[in-house]
Amino acid sequence: MSDATDSEQNTMRWSVFRTVDNDLFEAVRGSGARRVVLQVPAGLVRNAHELAARIRDASGVPVDLAARPCFGACDLPTDTEAPRADLAVVLGHAPIPNVPLTRTTFFVEMRDAGGDPEQLAKVVAAGGLPHRLGLVASVQHLDLVDPLSAALGKLGYAVRVGRGDNRLAYPAQALGCNYTGAESVAKDVEAFLFLGTGRFHPIGLAFAADRPVYALDPLRGELEPPIDRGALVRKRQLIVASVRDARRWGILVSTFAGQNRSPTALALQQRANARGRDAEILLFDRLDGHDLVGRAFDAYVSTACPRIALDDSDNYPKPVLTPPEFLMALGELPLEPYRFDTYH
Ligand code: SF4
Repeated sequence: MSDATDSEQNTMRWSVFRTVDNDLFEAVRGSGARRVVLQVPAGLVRNAHELAARIRDASGVPVDLAARPCFGACDLPTDTEAPRADLAVVLGHAPIPNVPLTRTTFFVEMRDAGGDPEQLAKVVAAGGLPHRLGLVASVQHLDLVDPLSAALGKLGYAVRVGRGDNRLAYPAQALGCNYTGAESVAKDVEAFLFLGTGRFHPIGLAFAADRPVYALDPLRGELEPPIDRGALVRKRQLIVASVRDARRWGILVSTFAGQNRSPTALALQQRANARGRDAEILLFDRLDGHDLVGRAFDAYVSTACPRIALDDSDNYPKPVLTPPEFLMALGELPLEPYRFDTYH
């Protein structure tokens, strides 16, 4: 088994695996589990049946597939979705240490050590990035952080790697709702370099920290230009301004263990009422835009995943704000500086 860990806050045990291999199969076999539920992110759905068969054949333990893909370690299969499983195997995510678990869970992080650090450092230098750099990575590419830091150091870079709060399992780790690791070193760096693919994390990091965010795909060796933070923030500020006079608010609360901020929702409801607004709490597990159609609300505030409001707002019939944006709309927070909705 690789790197097995007991969480401090969870009464249920969790363990971490680098990838789907014999270490995982042996651990499943030795766990004493009677039935496994396997959950994969959307990008691995095509391979899910084959992965389930490999785990089943190699461990001898029956495996059910969770039909609902996971967005993160925040929305693991619920007891209702997998009532018979006493072990969950979750692919593609690191544990979130402060999210309570209802069954033993094996997190398979799908680490990829690919990418030549010396070559990648040259790409960074050729891209003219500032020399005081903060390094951030998706969990798949965390193994590259130390060797790339060393390679950049040889080229004269001062690299900083931050450690975040208890929602992040590792230094340098990025989570779409929490960039506290990066924020902890923001004052010491001129820019951030994100190791990974896609724009999800660069955009989130740009919202969270007022620094240019470059993205480097470690496998392709391609460097992306920085995100235009100003444009992102201005778009959100315009949405906030458009709902300043909204009277009827829906407060969205997810029942997923790692997305449930009920105390925040109740506090927002009180703030809304104190400002003469109506505010009703709406419960859901995964938010579907269709469920908001035809409701008598002028706007919503989401206390679930912050990326619902920031990335998916076009999917909803009325504006959806994050909690800090909601307080801006009520006039309780200024529009500047813009505050990212960090989920702690
Ligand atoms: S709350 Fe959103 S960003 Fe955070 S881990 Fe869950 S899906 Fe990812």
